[in-house]
Amino acid sequence: MKPILMIHEFKDTFLNLPLENYILTFDDGLYTQYEFFNEIKKIKTEKYFFISSGIICPENIKQSSEYITCVQAHKKAFSGDFSNYMKWSQINEINKTKDCFIGCHSHFHMRKTAGCVECIILDNQKMFSEFKNNLEKMPESFCFPYNYDTPLYKEILFKKGFNKFFGKERIDIFDI
Ligand SMILES: [Zn+2]
Repeated sequence: MKPILMIHEFKDTFLNLPLENYILTFDDGLYTQYEFFNEIKKIKTEKYFFISSGIICPENIKQSSEYITCVQAHKKAFSGDFSNYMKWSQINEINKTKDCFIGCHSHFHMRKTAGCVECIILDNQKMFSEFKNNLEKMPESFCFPYNYDTPLYKEILFKKGFNKFFGKERIDIFDI
């Protein structure tokens, strides 16, 4: 199997890298990833986009093309501004594209979730209902927020039907 690359904010210079030699994972549903989707979808490898269902841009909001780090974008989202994120219509488009897969990345994207059973259950409930309402099929892959997993979290997700897990085993694109 190919090594797995972890990508957050996407830049055009990444297109010069030998990305086809890796399985590509894009975290957090940043709109800048979608802006490069026409190029990204041509890369001959599997591509996973991990979406947090509570951090989605509403369909009627104008998205921002500014380059922003995932940390800054999350800060804005936690204060109610989702303009740096993809919309469900765009996520569905990705999901219908060859060799592109949507995966779950929790609902709230909170660090404490992994250490608290009640938080996992609540987060899963929200995540399942949002994905069910907005995607045709529940994803089978899951990426742990902040790459922070626990055996219990994994076990609960496995019972829910997830069979592919992604986290800290990935290589950061800035390290290649
Ligand atoms: Zn994330």
